[in-house]
Amino acid sequence: MGLAVRDPRSGRVRPLGPRPGRPFTIYVCGPTVYADAHVGHARTYLFFDVLKRHLQAEGVRVRHVMNITDFEDKIFDRALALETSWKLLARREERRFRSDLGSVGILPADLYPRASDHIAAMRSTVRALARTGRLEPREQGLVYRPSDRRSRESPLASEAVEHAVAEPGVPSPDGLELGEFSVWLPPHPGGPAWPSPWGMGTPGWHLECYVMARRYLGLPVDLHGGGLDLAFPHHYAESELAQALDRRPFARHYLYADFVTQHGVKMSKSTGNLVTVRSAVQGAGAAAVRWYLLSVPYGRPLEWDQRALEVAAHAASSVRRAFRIALGDVGGGSLAERSLRRLRDDVSKDLSRNLGTERALARIARYATVIERSARGAFPKGSRRSSLALVADMERRLGLPLH
Ligand SMILES: [Zn+2]
Repeated sequence: MGLAVRDPRSGRVRPLGPRPGRPFTIYVCGPTVYADAHVGHARTYLFFDVLKRHLQAEGVRVRHVMNITDFEDKIFDRALALETSWKLLARREERRFRSDLGSVGILPADLYPRASDHIAAMRSTVRALARTGRLEPREQGLVYRPSDRRSRESPLASEAVEHAVAEPGVPSPDGLELGEFSVWLPPHPGGPAWPSPWGMGTPGWHLECYVMARRYLGLPVDLHGGGLDLAFPHHYAESELAQALDRRPFARHYLYADFVTQHGVKMSKSTGNLVTVRSAVQGAGAAAVRWYLLSVPYGRPLEWDQRALEVAAHAASSVRRAFRIALGDVGGGSLAERSLRRLRDDVSKDLSRNLGTERALARIARYATVIERSARGAFPKGSRRSSLALVADMERRLGLPLH
């Protein structure tokens, strides 16, 4: 099918496809469930959604797993503030998260394993890790020390690591050297703690994703990724664990979506400059939000702007109106099947070439403009059924209503 995406390590566009006889496996790091998802989260998950839809439209069997991080300091702190249990809060926020993603047309994953359901597996993984001699008990918990060699498989020719290499010995705010991470942490006030040979505590986040991806998809997974900030330290750490325990890469391909910003600052729960998915959809409608978030290449930041959202809303509704005219619901005409087939093929190529959602949308919008400008009925008659099938095919790939 010729699908290729940019490799964040080398910067080169590399072919991406299933291995013979296997489903294509996707592991996207899921949310820490303590507050509403914002449009930056939605943007990341949308790109994986379109990629998955496109693969499926090409006949590829896809298996997609998204973890739910249901214990973490931020959950415990918010549960304490709300005078509820961390578990109740996490379950409620998980439901809201999944419903928010569904509201912008993101297809559900095949599985949403929760971290708290995998404590025993994480404990036995720490035991195996201890045998490698890389763990050291410290006040930050049980700390993994990376080997001297830099993992060639690690997904991150990232600036953070370049910095770490340039200035060895510079400790990070949590008191760990860059490249070190805790696999078992001391208990947090208000949070749970599980017994282990290293004392009561909780497993670390990097360990969590490693254990669940390995269990449900097997390593290496075909595609891994998330928001750009996950490349380091999270994906670096997962990759270290896979190398140390399995002697294989964590993933064959990585894909990162750049941030949504406001006034140039990354949208995030911690800074509070955020627009929730819920409020965006209520204000502009799901199709407009989806169109907007896919209209900028995944590798570039998107500045959230009300005016641009309105432009996207207009584009999304103009396209629908034009296709309705063309398909005959309004004007009685029928699109020339050949031109519509060419459009569908070009859209498919746009997606195959480094997930060019912005090119695909621009192409559809141009096509719709031509339809709107032409007199009704000026299109040669084609088969309405096959025209509808072609439009439906593009709708499936992009997850957008087009007529
Ligand atoms: Zn993860």
